[in-house]
Amino acid sequence: MNTLGHYIDGQRVTSTSGRDAPVYNPATGEEASRVAMASADEARSAVTSAQAALPGWSRISPLKRARIMFRFKALLERDADKIARQLSLEHGKVLSDAMGELTRGMEVVEFACGIPHLLKGEHSLNVGTGVDSYSMMQPVGVCAGISPFNFPAMVPMWMFPVSIACGNTFVMKPSEKDPTVPMMLAELLTEAGLPQGVFNVVNGDKEAVDVLLTDDRVQAVGFVGSTPIAEYIYETASKHGKRVQALGGAKNHMVIMPDADPEQVVNSLLGAAYGSAGERCMAISVAVCVGDEVADNLVRDLKSEVKKLTVGPGTGQIPEPHMGPLVTREHAAKVRDYISTGAEEGATLVVDGRDFVAKDNEQGYFVGATLFDHVKPGMRIYQEEIFGPVLCVVRVGSYEEALAMVNAHEYGNGTAIFTRDGDTARQYTEQVQVGMVGVNVPIPVPMAFHSFGGWKRSLFGPLHMHGPDGVRFYTRMKTVTARWPTGIRAGAEFSMPTMK
Ligand code: NAD
Repeated sequence: MNTLGHYIDGQRVTSTSGRDAPVYNPATGEEASRVAMASADEARSAVTSAQAALPGWSRISPLKRARIMFRFKALLERDADKIARQLSLEHGKVLSDAMGELTRGMEVVEFACGIPHLLKGEHSLNVGTGVDSYSMMQPVGVCAGISPFNFPAMVPMWMFPVSIACGNTFVMKPSEKDPTVPMMLAELLTEAGLPQGVFNVVNGDKEAVDVLLTDDRVQAVGFVGSTPIAEYIYETASKHGKRVQALGGAKNHMVIMPDADPEQVVNSLLGAAYGSAGERCMAISVAVCVGDEVADNLVRDLKSEVKKLTVGPGTGQIPEPHMGPLVTREHAAKVRDYISTGAEEGATLVVDGRDFVAKDNEQGYFVGATLFDHVKPGMRIYQEEIFGPVLCVVRVGSYEEALAMVNAHEYGNGTAIFTRDGDTARQYTEQVQVGMVGVNVPIPVPMAFHSFGGWKRSLFGPLHMHGPDGVRFYTRMKTVTARWPTGIRAGAEFSMPTMK
C-alpha cells in the first residue's frame, strides 16, 4: 500500500521514522493509503531545508515572488478537478464543495499575487529638517503551519501563499487524516518555479508539531484546529519566542428575528448547518429564534426539509448528494453520542440521523442530518462543538436575550443575524462579541483580501489570517530615520530630539 512521505528540498522523500498511520476513504470505510508519521529528526530536516533557502528567497524581488504565485494559480486551475476529487475521496465532502474549498484557497493565492503592492511600506518626507523617515516590511524568517482535516486545501492556503510571497520560507504539517492534497500543492509550487526548500511538507503528529513549536530557527507558527490544541500551540510556541496565530473551534449562532424572511432563513440554515456534514468551523450549529412563533414555524418548515436531505459518497453519485460522510469512524461515533446526550439532556429530537445507513456503502462513516428543538444553554449539545450535521434550535424572548446568549458562549468565531430591520442588524454587528458577522448571510467567511479570524476562545493571538493581517503576521516592520549632509547641521544635542 502506498505510504505518503514528506516533501523536503523540492522533492518527495520517503520517511525513515518507522511510524505511519492509515488514511481512509470515509465513504467506504476502507483504508485507501498510509501516511508517514515524521520523527523529530525528519521535522528538523524540513526546518533545515527552509532555513537554507531563506537567505536567497527573502532577498528576491517581490515582483519575482509574485510571478511564481501567478504561475502557481494557473497550475491550480489546470489541476483543479484532480485536486478536488482527491480531496473529496479523503475528506468525504461532496465534489462541488471540494471545488468551492479549492476556489477559496486559490483566492488567497490571487491576493498573494499582489505582494509588491502590499509590501510597499510607508514614507514621510521631512519629519525633521532634512530628515526623512520610512518603514519597510521584511520577512520574519522560517514559518510553520499546522492545519486541520476539514479544509486540507484551503486552510494551508490561508497561510503559505502570503507567507512565502512575503519572502519567508515555510514548513507545513497537514492533518494526518487527509494529507495527500497538501503534497499535490507542494509539487505544483515546484513546477511553478519555487526554489527548493522554500516550501516543505512534513507529515505526522505531535512529535513533528513539537519540533516546529520549539525549534529556535522557526520564527512564526500558524495553526488552525480544535481549541485545546490551539491553546497548547499558542502557549508552547509563544514560550519559545515565536509569533503565533492559533485558530480554534466554534459554535456559531444564527439569530432569527420575527421580521426575517422565513424562506431565506430555512434555505440559509440548510446549507450552513448541513453543508460539508457540518464539518466547517463556520457552520451554523445553533439557530436562536426570537419568540416562540418564529421557532414553531422554523422547526415545522425545517423538519420536512431536513428529512429530504440526501446523504452519500462525495464523488461518483448523480445527482450529487447534499452531504457526504464524516471524516473518521471515531468522529461519526462521537457525533452519534452527542445526539444521544442531547436527547437525554431533555432537548426535543425532531429529526434523528443516528441510524442513517448509506445504500451500497454500509461501512461508510455516515450520520444523517439531525435537528433538535428546545435546546438550552448548559446542555452539552449547546456548549460543545459537535462538528457534525446537528442543528440546535434555541428559543429566547427578545433580541437582548439572544445577544447576551451569543456573547456568553466561550467561542466567538462566526455568527449571523437574519432581519429586515437595519437598526437591529446594526446594533448586532456592533455589540456581538464574535469575529465574523453576517447580516442575512449565514456563513460570513471574509474574502481573501480581508482577514479571517474569531474572538474569544476561537483565536489565540492578535492577528487574523490572510488579508492585511496575514501580511502583518508574516512581516516585521523596520522604521528608518535618515538625515543627509545637506540637512541643517546642529551641534551635539543632549535633550530628547524634537521638531523645533
Ligand atoms: P485538531 O486540533 O485535532 O488537529 C489540528 C492539527 O493539530 C492537525 O494537524 C493535528 O495533527 C495536530 N494535532 C492534533 N493533536 C495534537 C497535539 N496533541 N499536539 C500537537 N499537534 C496536534 O483539529 P481537527 O479535528 O483536525 O479539525 C477540526 C477542528 O478545527 C474543529 O474544532 C474546527 O472548529 C477547527 N477549525 C477551526 C477553524 C477556524 O478558522 N477557527 C477552521 C477550520 C477548522
